[in-house]
Amino acid sequence: MTTSPQDPWLLTPGPLTTSMQTKQAMLHDWGSRDAVFIATNRRMLDRLVAIAGAEETHVCVPVQGSGTFAVEATLGTMIPRDGKALVLINGAYGTRMAKILEYAGRAFVTMETPEDTPPGLDEIDAVLKADTDISHVVAVYCETTSGILNPIAEIARITAEHGRGLIIDAMSAFGALPLNAAEVPFDAMMASSNKCLEGVPGMGFAILRRGALEGCQGNAHALSLDLYEQWTAMEANGQWRFTPPTHVICAFDAALDQFDAEGGQPGRFARYTANCRIIVDGMRALGFKTLLPDNMQAPIIITFKMPIDPAFDFQTFYDALGKRGFLIYPGKLTVAPSFRIGCIGHLGETEMRGALEAIKVTLAEMGVTNGAPAT
Ligand SMILES: *Cc1c(COP(=O)(O)O)cnc(C)c1O
Repeated sequence: MTTSPQDPWLLTPGPLTTSMQTKQAMLHDWGSRDAVFIATNRRMLDRLVAIAGAEETHVCVPVQGSGTFAVEATLGTMIPRDGKALVLINGAYGTRMAKILEYAGRAFVTMETPEDTPPGLDEIDAVLKADTDISHVVAVYCETTSGILNPIAEIARITAEHGRGLIIDAMSAFGALPLNAAEVPFDAMMASSNKCLEGVPGMGFAILRRGALEGCQGNAHALSLDLYEQWTAMEANGQWRFTPPTHVICAFDAALDQFDAEGGQPGRFARYTANCRIIVDGMRALGFKTLLPDNMQAPIIITFKMPIDPAFDFQTFYDALGKRGFLIYPGKLTVAPSFRIGCIGHLGETEMRGALEAIKVTLAEMGVTNGAPAT
């Protein structure tokens, strides 16, 4: 895998290391209202819907900005002003969705579990039974705060049994973890260009059930975040309403070619799983402990508890790894001091083994003999 020699490998949850082919796709300028760009945009949208197995039922609506813009646009468009959401929270991204609903003035209740604990399915069932005002369940597939895999298929089944709509933040999962609209019923799912599909940052998108979206005119609280208007305008003339991130889209189209060549979602899942295995096994051999047991760990980003060895200092560790060409990620947990290592992006066995080697050398340099945490 190649990148220019001076770029560090990004072991982060995004933006990620991208391939030379993806970067090179940006070395042009496109007219946003020109047929060439319109065709590329259309192809991108069709491919995203196909990845979700949703060609018959859903449409893809893109929006400028980072992933949060797509989340905010989707919640505001899909939840009517008199709707009510049940937000399942076990990390920062669930918390962020509750905050978005607050800004948008939508009614909501939350169900919160610790960052290493998936939501209780019986409890979701009970809340939906008791509170018939709840129109939508809002959930995170892989909560990137910890890397935990939430049981999205079961959450979808319970939500559908109660006849409510499901909105999934699949930002750090889509393209790598399985998500098929025919098997996991959802009204909306959001992701972005710069996570498991390995594009560059600048565009979010939502895959929306056509039957649900059709009833959403006038819901949105912000003109630029109105996905109903974005959809109908793009259906009418193939164009974005406001300046599209042309270079991001053309890079994304190239990234999707590579995604297909790798065997689509199963191929990407296999590479990320292998990346994750190398890091988890290698770090455990050095005494480090993961926050999560293996059966809850998504092969996206791994949280390690902070070592107690007094010789270990995270900033020193981070800086030394950076000098050796690997950028890791600080922790975001409230339950325990931690740091994270991502396994997504244009990275494979060579880079993961290289990262482990850099970690070993750095620990030795710091005089850290064991990565074990306090508990
Ligand atoms: C990355 C991410 C987002 C969006 O974050 P941005 O910084 O706006 O791109 C939302 N949800 C999850 C679970 C994520 O991993």
